[in-house]
Amino acid sequence: MEYRDFSKIIDDGLLWPQRGVNIDPTVDQRHNALAKVLCCLPEEDYGRLEQLADSFRWWIPPVEGHAGIWPFHATVFPEKVKNGPQEVPYAQVVYLMPSLEKCAYDIAVGSIAHELAHLVLGHQIQALLPERYLKQEREAWALIESWGFNRESKKCQAVHEWRNSRDSNTL
Ligand SMILES: [Zn+2]
Repeated sequence: MEYRDFSKIIDDGLLWPQRGVNIDPTVDQRHNALAKVLCCLPEEDYGRLEQLADSFRWWIPPVEGHAGIWPFHATVFPEKVKNGPQEVPYAQVVYLMPSLEKCAYDIAVGSIAHELAHLVLGHQIQALLPERYLKQEREAWALIESWGFNRESKKCQAVHEWRNSRDSNTL
């Protein structure tokens, strides 16, 4: 179910990559799938994500091209610590890999929704214990299912399980 038109996302101006400079969602599958996810986000989580817009950057590199140097401005500024090493500021980057162009559309939609779910849920992205990682994964899949991406969630999880079993069967 769609809660808003794509034009509303552009008008709101906070979530579309490059702050709405490239407004064409049909340029490739990643932008297309992202537009679908943003149109289908329930109001509360859409608003939550808008509040978080300054806390992350998009990185959706072109499929063609081989190398480049890109600046990512810091988005996270760790609190000062009195004793012990100070964590330096860093950029939290949502990276949509070129491989998302070649996969099934449902996988692209599910994968992008899943990453946005991690942001909405305020998940920890670094130094995770395995149990914590798996708990966060379950929560992110459950959230995108509540957004209406049930089919996409199931397909993505099936791919993950297949990869895990393949990788654990090879040394
Ligand atoms: Zn995840």
